[in-house]
Amino acid sequence: MKSSDFIKLEENYGAHNYRPLDVVIAKGEGIWLWDVDGNRYLDCLSAYSAVNQGHCHPKIMKTLTEQAQRLTLTSRAFRNDQLGLFYKELCDLTRSHKVLPMNSGAEAVETVIKAVRKWGYQVKGVPRDRAEIIVCANNFHGRTIAIVGFSTDEQYREGFGPFAPGFKIIPFGDAGALEKAITPETVGFMVEPIQGEAGVIVPPAGYLAQAKAICEKHRVVFILDEIQTGLGRTGKLLAEEHDNVEADITIIGKALSGGFYPISAVLSNVEVLGVLRPGEHGSTFGGNPLACAVARTALKVLIEEGMVDNAAKMGDYFSSRLQSIRSPHIKEVRGKGLLIGVELKPEAGGARRFCEQLMTKGVLCKETHEHTVRFAPPLIITQQEIDWAFERIEPVLAGD
Ligand SMILES: *Cc1c(COP(=O)(O)O)cnc(C)c1O
Repeated sequence: MKSSDFIKLEENYGAHNYRPLDVVIAKGEGIWLWDVDGNRYLDCLSAYSAVNQGHCHPKIMKTLTEQAQRLTLTSRAFRNDQLGLFYKELCDLTRSHKVLPMNSGAEAVETVIKAVRKWGYQVKGVPRDRAEIIVCANNFHGRTIAIVGFSTDEQYREGFGPFAPGFKIIPFGDAGALEKAITPETVGFMVEPIQGEAGVIVPPAGYLAQAKAICEKHRVVFILDEIQTGLGRTGKLLAEEHDNVEADITIIGKALSGGFYPISAVLSNVEVLGVLRPGEHGSTFGGNPLACAVARTALKVLIEEGMVDNAAKMGDYFSSRLQSIRSPHIKEVRGKGLLIGVELKPEAGGARRFCEQLMTKGVLCKETHEHTVRFAPPLIITQQEIDWAFERIEPVLAGD
C-alpha cells in the first residue's frame, strides 16, 4: 500500500477531528521516525511531549512485553503488585504524598475538579454547589465537556454546550488578576506553568511563586497542569522547579509512559485527595499493572539516562540556534528546555506551510495556534542531531 492509500482509508472511515500532516509513519526509534515509503524524519513534536524518552525505548519496551505476558488488568476491585511500587516511586521522585492514577490527561484534570470541589465543601466549608475554580485565558486542559466549557478557544466550545458552571477565567501571567478574582467560594486555581497549546507562552518570572502565595493566603488549592511541561520537558523534572514552588496538586500524563501506554496521575498532598472515599471516583483501567509497570520504567530511564539535564542543555543550544536565524517571518523565539515556540509574524501566512516544507526536508513539526511552530524533540537528542535539524530548519524559516 502507498501512503496515499493509507490516507484515503483514514479520510473515508475516520471522523475528521484532526488535520494531520500527510505523512504516514510506520516505525520509530529514538528521535527518528520512518514513513511507509522508508523516508526518515527527525521528530520535533514527540507526540505532544508524550515520547520524551524517545520512540520505542528498549527498556520500556522490555517492561511492556514482560508485564503483558504476566498480568495486564485486574481492575481496582483487587490489588496488584505494581500499583503500590508505582505510587511510592512517583511520590519519592516528585516529593508528593498521594497519587491517583487515571488514563488520559483530561481524565486526570476531571479528577482534580472533583477532588478540589469536594475538598472545598468538606474542608473549606464552601456552601453546597457553590465551589468555584479559577483558570486562565488560552488554557488547554483537555477535551471533555467540563474542560472545554472553560476554554477561551471558540473552536473548542462552539456547538458543544451547555457547559458545567463553576469556573472563572482570568488572564494568564497576571498575579494581581488572580488575587482580585478570589472569593470565599474559590476552591482552586488551575494553571499550566507554560501554556503549550496556546503557543508556548511563558509567564513572567516569579508568576508561579506569586500565584502559590496568593492561593495559600486565601486557602485556595494551587493546581499545576504539568501534563505537557512535566517529566523533563522544560529542563527540570517538573516545570514548577524553575520558580522554586511546590503545587498543592500536580497533574502529569503524556510522557509518564514514554508513549507506550495511556497513563496519567494526580499528585497531591494528603489533604485534598484524602477527601475521596471508596466508590466516589474510579476508572476500570486506571492504575492497571501494565500501565504502572511501564510508567515505573519510563520514570526510571528519564532519571538514569540523564534526560532531564540533557533537555536543559540541548534546549539552551537549540533555542540559541533558533534565535540566531535572520528571517523576516520570525516574531519571537521563546520557551524553556526543549519546549520551544517560534512565533511567526501574521504576514508570514500561518505556520502550517512552514511545517509542510519542513516535512519535505525530513523534520516533523506541527503548528500550534496558527502562527507558532513548536519544536519539542525527544529529550535524548544530541547536539549533532540538533545541528542536522537546524541545517534544514534555517532555510525554511528564513525563506519565502
Ligand atoms: C495534552 C494535554 C492535556 C490533555 O491530555 P490528554 O491525554 O490528551 O487528555 C491537558 N493539559 C495539557 C497541558 C496538555 O498538554
